[in-house]
Amino acid sequence: METRNVIIVGSGPAGYTAALYASRASLSPLLIEGMEPGGQLTTTTDVENFPGFPDGVMGPDLMINMKKQAARFGTEYLSTFVKSVDLSKRPFHVVCENGKEFLTQTLIISTGATAKYLGLDNEMELIGKGVSACATCDGFFYRDKVIHVVGGGDTAMEEATFLTKFASKVYVLHRRETLRASKAMQERAFANDKIEFLWNTQVEEILFDDSGVTGLRIKDTKTGAESQRDTDGFFLAIGHKPNTGLLGGQIETDDQGYIKPTNAPHPDTNIAGVFACGDVQDHYYRQAISAAGSGCMAAIRAEKFLEEFGEA
Ligand SMILES: Cc1cc2nc3c(=O)[nH]c(=O)nc-3n(C[C@H](O)[C@H](O)[C@H](O)COP(=O)(O)OP(=O)(O)OC[C@H]3O[C@@H](n4cnc5c(N)ncnc54)[C@H](O)[C@@H]3O)c2cc1C
Repeated sequence: METRNVIIVGSGPAGYTAALYASRASLSPLLIEGMEPGGQLTTTTDVENFPGFPDGVMGPDLMINMKKQAARFGTEYLSTFVKSVDLSKRPFHVVCENGKEFLTQTLIISTGATAKYLGLDNEMELIGKGVSACATCDGFFYRDKVIHVVGGGDTAMEEATFLTKFASKVYVLHRRETLRASKAMQERAFANDKIEFLWNTQVEEILFDDSGVTGLRIKDTKTGAESQRDTDGFFLAIGHKPNTGLLGGQIETDDQGYIKPTNAPHPDTNIAGVFACGDVQDHYYRQAISAAGSGCMAAIRAEKFLEEFGEA
């Protein structure tokens, strides 16, 4: 079986940046792209907060360019996903869905996280057209607009409060009549004049026309009464799920399932030679630039590790 110096799992900003650094360090990395080549940014349109693009850049274009840039220095790409890994001894064993297997001296996990959606009709098709799961990314597009946010935890309070910087009004829809959010976050949201809560409320349908989201059909969870509301934006704030299934519990995670850095600020994990970068280890920033930054760090750590413990 072929033994590699560096295998990178995941092709978002973290993975491509790790690949760029590892390939420029002459480590000939192999990047396994997964089922979403280019990662989360391929599902959006304008990215206005990635440095170096004064007029913004389309998410898919940015990812194509990142891929090309890492290819220029010798990154190899494999279009499949990793089914499982055996991290019990080095070199680590990587098993892909297409039947290919590899050994690798270092492994960089950049498998991202997936936002949870409600599963409503057209919800995914309307991402970028009024539906969003990222207030930091998309809030700016809703200046003086009306937004509805779904959720009842800390993230929902944080996102709703952040969105009031732009929106004329933010409604928080919650299925129950009490929030899961911490007291402090709740109080901050309650004190904000622009935020109004709609309790015992469930979204049944997203209403839209050619321009995007126009409204919501909602249901009172107590009475069953249905009504419609106009809205410009519909934000989901019901959590994310880090993509760690392939690790089979071999890497330490926090109580939400995010990979736990064991030697901060370095992106090391509990297994020497395995590094994690991007959203799979970050429930706080969740941005392309922070993912890219941690990808750079993971590659440099892998390089140092190989210097110390030997290349393939
Ligand atoms: C709609 C939308 C708009 C956004 N807009 C912005 C924005 O404007 N600005 C901004 O900074 N951020 C934005 N973000 C957030 C940003 O996209 C993420 O923070 C960033 O993509 C995280 O990068 P990542 O490399 O960690 O993971 P991801 O981009 O999530 O990529 C994960 C990669 O891992 C792969 N993968 C998963 N499991 C496996 C496996 N088992 N085997 C192989 N591969 C696997 C997937 O195929 C994918 O390629 C947005 C996110 C969304 C969803």
